[in-house]
Amino acid sequence: MLDNECKPKKILIVGGGTAGWMAANLLATKWKGTEICLVESKEIGIIGVGEGSTPHLKFFFDAIGVADPQWMPRCNATYKNGITFDKWSTHQGFESYFHPFEAQTDDLFTTPHFFKNIQARKQGYNVDAHPDKYFLETYLSRNNLGPLPEETFPFGVAYGYHFDSALLGQFLAENAESLGVTRTYGNVQDVIVNNQGNLSSVKLGDGTTLEADFFIDCTGFSSLLMQQTLKVNYKSFKDNLFNDSAVVMPSEITQALPVETKSTALTNGWAWKIPLRNRFGNGYVYSSDYIDGDQAETELRQHLGLLESDVQARHLKMKVGRVEKHWHKNCLAVGLSQGFIEPLEATAIALSFNTVTQFMQYFGEGKGTNKFEEAFNKDINSRFDGIRDYVVCHYKANQRTDSQYWLDNAANNNISDTLNRILSLWKNSNDFAADMYKYKLMGSYQPKSWACLLAGYGVFPQKNIDPSIDYSAHQQEIDDLSNFIRRCALNFKNHNDLLTL
Ligand SMILES: Cc1cc2nc3c(=O)[nH]c(=O)nc-3n(C[C@H](O)[C@H](O)[C@H](O)COP(=O)(O)OP(=O)(O)OC[C@H]3O[C@@H](n4cnc5c(N)ncnc54)[C@H](O)[C@@H]3O)c2cc1C
Repeated sequence: MLDNECKPKKILIVGGGTAGWMAANLLATKWKGTEICLVESKEIGIIGVGEGSTPHLKFFFDAIGVADPQWMPRCNATYKNGITFDKWSTHQGFESYFHPFEAQTDDLFTTPHFFKNIQARKQGYNVDAHPDKYFLETYLSRNNLGPLPEETFPFGVAYGYHFDSALLGQFLAENAESLGVTRTYGNVQDVIVNNQGNLSSVKLGDGTTLEADFFIDCTGFSSLLMQQTLKVNYKSFKDNLFNDSAVVMPSEITQALPVETKSTALTNGWAWKIPLRNRFGNGYVYSSDYIDGDQAETELRQHLGLLESDVQARHLKMKVGRVEKHWHKNCLAVGLSQGFIEPLEATAIALSFNTVTQFMQYFGEGKGTNKFEEAFNKDINSRFDGIRDYVVCHYKANQRTDSQYWLDNAANNNISDTLNRILSLWKNSNDFAADMYKYKLMGSYQPKSWACLLAGYGVFPQKNIDPSIDYSAHQQEIDDLSNFIRRCALNFKNHNDLLTL
């Protein structure tokens, strides 16, 4: 049933992980008057990982009217300028690079130099085309500066966060309850479907029946409503992305809190290092086809210097792929129940945010009917596939030869047409950024991000360099850029100081 503004009268959210509580907050903020109930299972619990975000978490908090100081201390949260990718490439000078979030100063002043020098490098000139020289947030990160400028700095800087996922869940639950969301505990054991194929109610273990007009499936990888009950197809990304497991453990935090996630390539996957106020969160994401859980745990301990430590490790399985329909009948899947792309770019929260906000828009435009269901599903699928392509590109472009895992990843030709075209443009285009726009190939990432990845790994043709060329003008250009970025950075505070404000 719909109210007179064409919103559902009653929504039931099943699942109280980050996805469930994000959906509850957004719906309660934007669809005032709709009755919203969330049921979660104490026995099943939440996945309890996922501690890095893109700027979408900021967009989410802006949308529900919560400012950084209201939630960050409660969740041991820190700021994030981007991600360092370490040891993914073995090209000399390209062993590490930083993928920054967007800053207006980059777009306006420095990115054109980056693209110009990429082109020159592709033509065989010995110019500096490593991304680390060109972007403000790279400099901020290297100098432990947080992403909030003084008010006198008139340019926008996007940023993400690191946070304790369990504490974030608690904060969001409290906030949603303050907005009028009803919280219930129970195990959903049965889902009732009516004659039209719509969901009508769920039955809990204690016999309680919860009815609603619209249902949000936030049940994690089990996808109880969307996949198990409504039988929506699931498309695995296993052919594109080999990783299916992770082992996680905390380590001691450093005095100076980093402003970045670090992703270090290991022998059969990669390890994340995420700084919270009270600990580092670490995890090794790997493929169980190449290494088993015990070996992965030992390698992670070695990497962290924790071989002798009795710190507990948690082992997790990941299902990588997505449903074909995120909205079907009177049900929307949000979070792991709709799909997951391995966490290399920390995009799951962004996808949950986009799913809920886009759904409200399409549902509203269709006056509460399923008129725009297909368009919506196409939109969300393309966001998933765009992120998948970008993550796959990391593996495709890796330069490591120390294990079959990395060799197989580089040789893997199960990549999408879009990614094939992007790689071909990188090789052949005389204006990579313009052609990405011209052929509508960006997907979920801007040309700058694609160029950071490919230039960051040193994916350039081997050409003989003419030693007689005078590079003093280029050196002056790089010095001027460095000076400009350094002076911009004078407007930013030390990360630790920012967090104690
Ligand atoms: C290794 C790893 C690393 C990750 N890193 C990142 C990252 O850096 N950044 C990022 O954005 N994301 C990351 N993610 C993804 C992130 O963890 C999830 O997107 C996020 O936690 C949301 O999970 P969820 O709410 O969909 O599922 P869950 O946290 O699993 O919650 C599911 C909820 O459903 C409930 N439930 C299930 N079945 C029933 C039932 N029958 N009855 C009642 N309740 C039920 C559970 O009790 C729980 O409350 C990572 C994931 C993994 C696996």
